[in-house]
Amino acid sequence: MRKRERERFLKLLETRRQTLLARSARTAEEGREVVPEGGEDYVDDAVTHYTREFLLSLSDLERRQVLQVEEAIVRVKEGTFGECMSCGDEIEPRRLEAVPWARYCVSCQEIAEKEELAERYHVRDISEEEE
Ligand SMILES: [Zn+2]
Repeated sequence: MRKRERERFLKLLETRRQTLLARSARTAEEGREVVPEGGEDYVDDAVTHYTREFLLSLSDLERRQVLQVEEAIVRVKEGTFGECMSCGDEIEPRRLEAVPWARYCVSCQEIAEKEELAERYHVRDISEEEE
């Protein structure tokens, strides 16, 4: 991938990250009010607490999206962006345009989704056996 292309995707990803974080910022503001008194004496703890509160305030889907976008930003910086994390082939350009934080090419994505479903089914299977 050309440098100019990489920079374009980096901008796209960083914008996406900001949007995701800004969307959840209001919830985090509300969450900060429940920090116990005295917490402000320990600034580092307060920051950690705030970050944790913030991440907890995100829905699972939002948290996953933020993590996926951040991972993709790391891949741009490492120079592995655009490669499938499973087979190493180039991810289809059209797929990258639509989903710049995609980890896998289309065929590996399908396999990964099937495995995830199979895993969930397996877990449920075991618990049913125990009953
Ligand atoms: Zn692949």
